[in-house]
Amino acid sequence: MTTWKEHLVYLICPFCSYKMDRAGATNTGRGPKPSDVSICIKCGGAAIFTRKLRLRAPTTKERRELMLDDKVRHYQKAVRTVQSKKDHP
Ligand SMILES: [Zn+2]
Repeated sequence: MTTWKEHLVYLICPFCSYKMDRAGATNTGRGPKPSDVSICIKCGGAAIFTRKLRLRAPTTKERRELMLDDKVRHYQKAVRTVQSKKDHP
């Protein structure tokens, strides 16, 4: 069973500049840590937490790895589904 825990943070998506005030983690029961992946709820972009827990765009190598990660693809697909329903109710 997947557990979901939210943590209050202040983040800006490096792809669409969406301002987020929460970050959730699955199965960890903890807040975000450096090098964790964040999926933007607005655009579905996969970003990386920095040492200061801000978000940055992944490097080319990281982007390739993220594209192969089933969990990342699952959440990106979920965001795209929700956004497409908002655009075409
Ligand atoms: Zn975004």
